[in-house]
Amino acid sequence: MSLLFIIVAFAIAILIGIVAVGLGILIGIRMAALRHPPTIAGKSDCHDQGPQQRSFAKGEQHEDASPKPSTSERSSNLSASALSDSEPSQVNADPLVAKLQAQKDQLQARLSEAEHRLGTQAQQIRDYLTEARTDQLTGLLNRRAIEKLAECAIMRESGEQNPLSLALVDVDHFKSINDRFGHAAGDATLKYVADLLQQSVECSDSADGFGSVEVLGSIEPLGSVGRFGGEEFLILFQLSLSDALSRLEAVRKLVAGQVLRWDQHQITVTISIGVCGITENQNLAASMKRADQALYRAKRDGRNCIFLHDGLTTHRK
Ligand code: GH3
Ligand code: MG
Ligand code: MG
Repeated sequence: MSLLFIIVAFAIAILIGIVAVGLGILIGIRMAALRHPPTIAGKSDCHDQGPQQRSFAKGEQHEDASPKPSTSERSSNLSASALSDSEPSQVNADPLVAKLQAQKDQLQARLSEAEHRLGTQAQQIRDYLTEARTDQLTGLLNRRAIEKLAECAIMRESGEQNPLSLALVDVDHFKSINDRFGHAAGDATLKYVADLLQQSVECSDSADGFGSVEVLGSIEPLGSVGRFGGEEFLILFQLSLSDALSRLEAVRKLVAGQVLRWDQHQITVTISIGVCGITENQNLAASMKRADQALYRAKRDGRNCIFLHDGLTTHRK
């Protein structure tokens, strides 16, 4: 009886064990099925899956690699995506602003470059104009420029209120300077005389006795000098005839009293001058003719002197 009881109990235990193992296997299969759902094709390694499925698989990988967001992070991500959905312009504005800024910078750079080029060209034009008006050897105005300047000045302001005077200056026996010392010495002499004549219309009182007029703290030139041709110069004074004469006498004396030292040579030089006042309604040609007649008289009278044409006749000064 007890043996029968033992056999029955043993058989029941074996049955319970079999049932438990069977249940365990079933639960395991179910769990595995939940963790790895079957693909459409029923394969895990799918080469011809569609783009949608591929991106899904990618998303899965990404999710696996990155740490899982917390509940609060997930909710803030959700609210951010909700915000971005409700404000699309905010998200798209940044690249647009950056693009506009880049275009603005580009235009600004091109503008600066154009301004720079314009400045350079304006300077070039100024240089060309200066060159076109300048006598290369002496740096004075050339004949065309001094004539133009004199014409304009006569039209604009000749008269008692704004007296103008005209002088023609010629270097005496200049040809002999060329002959004795050479052409380069002649050039140096012309430059030297030109500088002294220029000073006669613009330098200050002290050293050389030319004097000047100070207007609001700046030294105003009292006239303009040009090289008329060869060894001849034309001076237009914005001065009365008597004031112009005193300046001309000062420069004549200065030239005659100094010695030009050039290349171990000592060159003495003198100038002759013809001068006239420019009266109202007189043109440049008429004034030039008078100054030239006065200069001619100065040459005939022995050179190194000044003759004045008073409108009727010439006088030594
Ligand atoms: P005068 O006292 O009568 O004026 O006599 P001059 O010798 O000064 O005048 P002339 O007309 O006989 O000679 C002028 C000379 O000036 C002739 C010419 O070769 C020279 N000459 C003209 N231009 C230049 C120049 O640019 N450089 C040099 N070195 N000589 C020049
Ligand atoms: Mg001459
Ligand atoms: Mg001469």
